[in-house]
Amino acid sequence: MSRPKSNRIVFEPPLYKVFVPKGDTGRPPEKVRISLDEFEAVRLADYKGLTHEKASESMEISRSTFTRLIEKARKKIADIVINGKELVIEGGNVHFRNNIIQCLDCSNLIKTKMEECVTECPTCHSHNLMNFAVSFGHGDCCTHV
Ligand SMILES: [Zn+2]
Ligand SMILES: [Zn+2]
Repeated sequence: MSRPKSNRIVFEPPLYKVFVPKGDTGRPPEKVRISLDEFEAVRLADYKGLTHEKASESMEISRSTFTRLIEKARKKIADIVINGKELVIEGGNVHFRNNIIQCLDCSNLIKTKMEECVTECPTCHSHNLMNFAVSFGHGDCCTHV
């Protein structure tokens, strides 16, 4: 099975999906959506310090696509921080390369390859696990990437 060329590769799911500003302005914050590929662009270029060339290779997209992606993401993040908006990370034409599983009993974070199937916490042997890729609507679709 092969995936459509337009899918972008995200190294692993984000740990948090929603960020809410703290404080009381008397009205609920406006929501700003950042897609998973925009999140990954910021992670690679601004957090990890990769060049646009290296970052675009990692996401399997062209450099010009990467540049457009990061510019959009930075504008949104500036708007969120300056104007006190709520950030929601979701969507985007992506697949994950790796996954994160969290044990809901001991909070252990387990980092795995996407195709590995973790059914038990290695620390406390609980089966009460949260699958981060699944929580973003992914899973089997990512394993052929
Ligand atoms: Zn555990
Ligand atoms: Zn997927």
